[in-house]
Amino acid sequence: MPLYDYRCESCGKPFEARHGFNDPAPVCPFCGHAEVKRLITSVPAIAGGILTNAGDSRSASKEQLKDKWAEETPKLRKKLVDKLGEDFVRKNAPSLGSSE
Ligand SMILES: [Zn+2]
Repeated sequence: MPLYDYRCESCGKPFEARHGFNDPAPVCPFCGHAEVKRLITSVPAIAGGILTNAGDSRSASKEQLKDKWAEETPKLRKKLVDKLGEDFVRKNAPSLGSSE
């Protein structure tokens, strides 16, 4: 049987109840009030929200990585040039760009 989220209209406390789809809503377990409101927190909506947020943060961190990379690349290249020489870097690490 599915689990439903409810909030009591009288005392305002949230609670969960497990019952069949067509069964009547349960009474509040805290105060016995019969007017309870089913909360619309369906699983697909929650999963969709998580997926959307994950997608957003993924693209954000990708942009951040790109910025970081653009910032770090010249420094890294300079370090390599200092250590190994301009010709070596140009030949072996063309992806770092050139200092020209
Ligand atoms: Zn109540």
